[in-house]
Amino acid sequence: MAKVYNNWVYIKFMRGLIFSENAELGKEMLNFLGGKIECDVAFAGEVGEAGLFAAKKIFILDSYPYDPQPVAIALESIATSYDYFFVGATTAGREVAAMMSQDLKIPMESEILSFDLESGQARISRFYYGGKTVMEKITSARIFTVMAGIASPLVTEKPYEQEVTVVHVQKPGINLITREEKQKGSIDLTRADVIVAVGRGIGKKEGLDVAGKLASALGGELAGSRPVCSDLHWLGEERQVGLSGKRVKPKIYIALGISGQIQHIVGMRDSKIVIAINRDKSAPIFNECDYGLVGDLYEIVPKLVQALGF
Ligand SMILES: Cc1cc2nc3c(=O)[nH]c(=O)nc-3n(C[C@H](O)[C@H](O)[C@H](O)COP(=O)(O)OP(=O)(O)OC[C@H]3O[C@@H](n4cnc5c(N)ncnc54)[C@H](O)[C@@H]3O)c2cc1C
Repeated sequence: MAKVYNNWVYIKFMRGLIFSENAELGKEMLNFLGGKIECDVAFAGEVGEAGLFAAKKIFILDSYPYDPQPVAIALESIATSYDYFFVGATTAGREVAAMMSQDLKIPMESEILSFDLESGQARISRFYYGGKTVMEKITSARIFTVMAGIASPLVTEKPYEQEVTVVHVQKPGINLITREEKQKGSIDLTRADVIVAVGRGIGKKEGLDVAGKLASALGGELAGSRPVCSDLHWLGEERQVGLSGKRVKPKIYIALGISGQIQHIVGMRDSKIVIAINRDKSAPIFNECDYGLVGDLYEIVPKLVQALGF
């Protein structure tokens, strides 16, 4: 942004700060924002990892407690010297961003799809109406969350010349009495190349074996709609695709017995090739797929597995 003062022109270069406790997402955000705004990076990890980020200034949080509030407070002390602040939209990151927005009284926009600077103002786009439309707007927000998979990670060949600062995170105010780890699969759906997703149409838990065979034949991962993951718990919640689950963009997404409600579609619409199998020919999933097969999944899937030589 240029300002004229006493016939001198001052140009203010906007700067951004990226934060994600997930280093991979931090690198994706660097790529996503590259050429649009110069960014420094804050992350929680080992000092030795700093050189992997293509940024001039690195802030390393000395701990990452279960309570996001001390993390937000630590970040607030540095974020205020930046024009824009971008947070990785992980479960914890979303909380951190919201707390910072509240504490600093700075508006935020969640899960942006694009960011540009226009005459010193931010122009962003994001899904709207649960993903039915994409809204583009000029915004006064200065805090943004960014989803995993927004771009490929920016990798550096040579170590960057960097200024590295360690930022102290206070102990959380909450007293943790006991901790039970949530059962986690070893999968990261956001990085899977092939996903076989099952919906309520699978009908019974044992039906997962049929879908699982197709997933293994293709070297893919099993995922599910909300009824299958969150309601029936036939698959873990980390495998749910959609608005309240993961946003995925595999090369191939196969939807078995999924009707195609918008809350599901928003999580998989960036897939390269979508194949749908549903016995109802008017199911909305057929408007979203490249290849559609109308029929019973229990008849079609075993034939596909056989055709693949398994
Ligand atoms: C705030 C909010 C957030 C949500 N978040 C998510 C989310 O993250 N992910 C998500 O998935 N949903 C989400 N939902 C729920 C969403 O609205 C739908 O209810 C859900 O996606 C439907 O799941 P489904 O397609 O598996 O089931 P259904 O809509 O019941 O569809 C089952 C389909 O299977 C077909 N079928 C049945 N038997 C067979 C067979 N033998 N062979 C082939 N086809 C068969 C049927 O024709 C039908 O089309 C959310 C809803 C809300 C309100």
